[in-house]
Amino acid sequence: MIKLSLLGTGDVRQVPVFGCQCKVCYRARVDVSARRRPCSALLETDQATLLLDGGLTDLAERFDQKPLDGILLTHYHVDHVQGLFHLRWGLGEPVPVYGPDDQEGCADLFKHPGILDFQRPLVPFERYNLHGVGVTPVPLQHSKPTFGYLLDYQNVRIAYLTDTVGLPDESMKFLNQFWLDMMVIDCSHPPQDTPPRNHNDLNLALEIHGKLNPAKTVLTHLSHHMDLWLMDNAATLPESVVVASDGDSFIL
Ligand SMILES: [Zn+2]
Ligand SMILES: [Zn+2]
Ligand SMILES: [Zn+2]
Repeated sequence: MIKLSLLGTGDVRQVPVFGCQCKVCYRARVDVSARRRPCSALLETDQATLLLDGGLTDLAERFDQKPLDGILLTHYHVDHVQGLFHLRWGLGEPVPVYGPDDQEGCADLFKHPGILDFQRPLVPFERYNLHGVGVTPVPLQHSKPTFGYLLDYQNVRIAYLTDTVGLPDESMKFLNQFWLDMMVIDCSHPPQDTPPRNHNDLNLALEIHGKLNPAKTVLTHLSHHMDLWLMDNAATLPESVVVASDGDSFIL
């Protein structure tokens, strides 16, 4: 059994957006369940607890009594690593951190890692075994070196693909070899007329869904604009495509 919990499903601004008076942001202020925190997830099996991205700012509280076996980073944009700036000054066993080759990283994380043990950058398309979970980094298209991850455990395969705009051909070909039980994918924007530059809009996310044909696709990294669009159009999504909310858990 593998459990994937979406701890955060928002874009860089989160929901509510500071200062925004739109319907979605208003709703998220009065209804906590409509909030979207920084995009991140927790993967749990009988043997391992792995965090996917470290953008939540309360990581030290959340994991104080529940140690992490490792942290997988998709990339070093602030909304995916900002929680590590506090977590690093914790005590105890080092926490291994895995991610793409990005010499710049983010601010002084590499210089002052504290308890974070930054491992050598992962090699694209190479499968690693982290406490029994197969982890294969898959390059994405974004403004910083970014990995999605193909995660496999027993016979279950999950692709976690954010942040990205479309998919590089090689990554598409690679993922196409596998039956995917679930795909979690960047869908920051509602359908746009002009092609988006750095994140999927719904059109691109659905195009990838059509090509990879997973059993279930979960849209994440959603902006308040996407939520606004969903208020009127959620019913138009294909049956196998669902919109993530913070705290959603999937047991596979
Ligand atoms: Zn992001
Ligand atoms: Zn808003
Ligand atoms: Zn990003």
